[in-house]
Amino acid sequence: RTVYVNGDYVAERDATVSIFDRGFMLADGVYEVSSVLDGKLIDFPGHMGRLKRSAAALEIALPWDEETLLAIHRELIRRNALDEGMVYLQLTRGSAGDRDFHYPDADTQPTLVLFTQAKPLVDARSGREGIRVATQPDWRWARRDIKTVQLLYPAMAKMAAKAAGADDAWLVEDGMVTEGASNNVWMLTHDATLVTRELSSAILPGITRAAVMTLAEALSLQLEERAFSVEEAQQARECFVTSASSFVTPVIAIDGVSVGDGHPGEVAQRLRAAYIEVSRRRAL
Ligand code: PLP
Repeated sequence: RTVYVNGDYVAERDATVSIFDRGFMLADGVYEVSSVLDGKLIDFPGHMGRLKRSAAALEIALPWDEETLLAIHRELIRRNALDEGMVYLQLTRGSAGDRDFHYPDADTQPTLVLFTQAKPLVDARSGREGIRVATQPDWRWARRDIKTVQLLYPAMAKMAAKAAGADDAWLVEDGMVTEGASNNVWMLTHDATLVTRELSSAILPGITRAAVMTLAEALSLQLEERAFSVEEAQQARECFVTSASSFVTPVIAIDGVSVGDGHPGEVAQRLRAAYIEVSRRRAL
């Protein structure tokens, strides 16, 4: 596999980053994951727009414009002959050498790393059959709107969910679901209203969430942005999650309680198909 490191396309085993890199030492970095269908990028401007916002929020330099970043993504897809999967991009503050809590001088070069990962996305089993989730307390930091590489707690929550026999974790704070460990959460009420939590520092502004909101409007579905409890979701007609790598994925059980009839919901399936179709058409 060919990866990208600070301007170079190199074999995976030849890629190096300093052990003093603040991404490694302090999780001082941000990332994006863009999915690839037919060798083309899905929702690319959205992901690069959020990368810009994340970097700005942390005052990490991003000395590449969107066009350059698109060219790097495309070159990596080409070199790896990637047809379906993801491109992972990570931007860290770099390092001035030595470990120091304080940010180094502004002229310190950030570290930019990209790699591809082949994976069936459209024909994923989770998309066809749905997933079971287990709830976990949301013990992450308070700026979840920034897509940082501090993913230890989401990893712990996913491990706990797996130990509980579920496929993924839903995070809960003050009795309300914030989001999934790596996706945004949705439910469909019995009066056919789609509900997803409103944007704030409590959740990541999902690019797929935004795209699905637009699709829902086009399909004349009622939409409401608000928080909901675990109990409300368990009693809902349908639940699903959205993310770049899972598109729209039905949730069929929450903490062992079946959602609806325990099968992927009709609206979730319709939105998944519509998202894939529209994304394919707009891919770059
Ligand atoms: N929320 C969290 C915590 C995530 O990690 C992700 C994506 O990885 C999402 C939501 C979904 O965001 P997107 O649709 O941009 O992939």
